[in-house]
Amino acid sequence: MPTLRFHAIKESLAHKPIIIEESKKRSEIFGENVFNENTMRQYLTKDAFVGVMNAVQHGTKINRNIADQVSASMKDWALSKGVTHYTHWFQPLTGTTAEKHDAFFETVSGGMAIEKFDGGQLVQQEPDASSFPSGGIRNTFEARGYTAWDPTSPAFIYGSTLCIPTIFVAYTGEALDYKTPLLRALHAVDDAATAVCRYFDKNVKKVSSSLGWEQEYFLVDKMLAASRPDIILTGRTLLGHSSAKGQQLDDHYFGAIPNRALNFMRDLEHECMLLGIPAKTRHNEVAPNQFELAPIYEEANLAVDHNSLLMDVIGRVASRHNFKVLLHEKPFAGMNGSGKHNNWSLSTDTGVNLLAPGKTPMSSLQFLTFFINTIKAVHTHEELLRASVATASNDHRLGANEAPPAIISVFIGEQLTKVLEELEGVTKGKLSPQEKTELKLNVVGKIPDVLLDNTDRNRTSPFAFTGNKFEFRAVGSTANSGNPMTILNTIVAKQLKDFKVEVDKLIDEKGLKKDEAVFNILREYIKSCKPILFDGNGYGEVWEKEAKKRGLSNNKSTPEALKAKISKQTIDLFEEMNVMSKIEVEARYEIEIEAYIKHIQIEGRVLGDIARNHIVPTAVKYQNILVENVKGLKEIFDKDFKSISKEQISLIEEISNHIKGINTNVTKLIDERKKANKIEDIEKRASAYCDKVKPLFDDIRYHCDKLELMVDDEIWPLTKYRELLFTR
Ligand code: ADP
Ligand code: MG
Repeated sequence: MPTLRFHAIKESLAHKPIIIEESKKRSEIFGENVFNENTMRQYLTKDAFVGVMNAVQHGTKINRNIADQVSASMKDWALSKGVTHYTHWFQPLTGTTAEKHDAFFETVSGGMAIEKFDGGQLVQQEPDASSFPSGGIRNTFEARGYTAWDPTSPAFIYGSTLCIPTIFVAYTGEALDYKTPLLRALHAVDDAATAVCRYFDKNVKKVSSSLGWEQEYFLVDKMLAASRPDIILTGRTLLGHSSAKGQQLDDHYFGAIPNRALNFMRDLEHECMLLGIPAKTRHNEVAPNQFELAPIYEEANLAVDHNSLLMDVIGRVASRHNFKVLLHEKPFAGMNGSGKHNNWSLSTDTGVNLLAPGKTPMSSLQFLTFFINTIKAVHTHEELLRASVATASNDHRLGANEAPPAIISVFIGEQLTKVLEELEGVTKGKLSPQEKTELKLNVVGKIPDVLLDNTDRNRTSPFAFTGNKFEFRAVGSTANSGNPMTILNTIVAKQLKDFKVEVDKLIDEKGLKKDEAVFNILREYIKSCKPILFDGNGYGEVWEKEAKKRGLSNNKSTPEALKAKISKQTIDLFEEMNVMSKIEVEARYEIEIEAYIKHIQIEGRVLGDIARNHIVPTAVKYQNILVENVKGLKEIFDKDFKSISKEQISLIEEISNHIKGINTNVTKLIDERKKANKIEDIEKRASAYCDKVKPLFDDIRYHCDKLELMVDDEIWPLTKYRELLFTR
């Protein structure tokens, strides 16, 4: 009987590119399904338009009257596009997006029906969301949370549904999602950064945080993926011997995109355009069948929404092209993993990117202020920043043998390092007129020129300055960027707030001029945050030793890393910056550690099942073939059979050894899981999963992968790496 594997291969070979015709220019369809400013101008009354714009730009509340007008217009617009349902669209802490569709349709008396959608339905909903993780915030008897409209992220149509981006909070006020704390963090960084900007430009009224994410993913044929229980249940391969050819030749990286994949991408980009996701870049990544999509950067909250939406849309579009998308950080052992670089910057309502050097010495001093404060924030909170990207699946990248490492460091390039060295030598206290001139003309004033050749990018750095933005590269490909973006913006906000206090103190108490005070504080920052600056090779023992000397943390596993999320420093930080309360911080910690446990638990079960139900029986089958063969040889050759069947006999023995290896280790795995499950303390349970359960995966895999090399290919049940990675 042909195995599922051969059936899948046969089907996959029949999958042809699905040709996508693009009849309209992208600029023409961009945002077609978004209730954006342009659409609102057409559909809203002037009052309603001004109301929404004020809410977007200044955070003012939208009253019920305006909400009624907006909802009526939204409904008209949606109905004109054939939409039948609406949903509050939110991002619970499961990591995916959630929606519950309701029809506009409502019955009225006399057996008639109408389409209805009022302000109340737009503004607030109560999904029966008792099964979303809340980390114990909502008691089960009062399992109520509600969603509330976020007017800063425009509503959009997906399929036949109007989606309204919302926050998700408990009735007691605590956040149950990623968006709520992110909005608070963006508010905090706006306040703190605007105050600092006003040292340099009194016209600045608002500072926004920008995010440009780069999403990496793998594409695998849908049938081949469906033939692997591990891919279906865990999103990655738990076993499988590496292919004879992998990524050694680097022939995939930036190579011509295979035709089937290219058509998929065009289709995906078309969807992105309709949804207002400004998809811009596509290319092959390092590993075979690995790709990347990057949009043009946007305001951080919108960018996070767009990434969450993309992670949903990408799977649906892929399915149309007979692909399965693997967003997992490490779908294939021995191949490059996937990340989601978060390019981050701050910009003013006057149109200035605060992380790009300006044309005048004063604006360059402003740049240096934000640049150095960011580095200082990362240094002070490096452990928390590491924790912001800690998940079971990202552990395969950070701290494993892959860049970036679990040690957070900042790369700024040779030229800016020189500038910082010069600034370190600034005189304490008042500066002489000559020194000021010298600094402004020859140090600060020179920055614009030098940055142009700041091209020596360090690809292994987890946090790199790349000309006009910082690039946080440790974020995992499955992550909701809301989490790391909340933390990054909060720590920068806190740092800028402290900076302002220190500078003001020098001005008020020591009588220093504003620029002197800024230079003085920056000098101290440069001195104190040197340990975080690193431009060498970001992984390996040499750096680990060096980082330890510098006092940097190296938390390789999630249970270890997450501890920083509930430290006193963290709780104080979030409370001071009004981003999260202690209860919210602790709840999230609990959810994340629990997710880690469940993740490893599921992987363990799946691996045990596959090893015992697929691999061992196949090995036995092949061993029996060998046994028959040896018996036959004995019949024919009698005494000489021993030397003639020597190889077969040793194969029979080897197979038995591997079967034994699998069985004993799966038994151990089950025992360790049982032991771990009995541990009450959640932290200790997570550690047990990390230190006792997880290491057994490697042992089991080792024996399975060895068998894959020995057993007749015709009867091997699991689709092999070469098939998954090289079938196009
Ligand atoms: P790469 O890092 O792969 O060389 P780019 O630097 O061109 O690619 O851009 C990567 C991402 O960074 C894109 O999403 C881009 O829009 C975004 N980006 C560019 N400038 C900024 C900025 N000032 N703030 C935030 N993101 C930015
Ligand atoms: Mg990049």
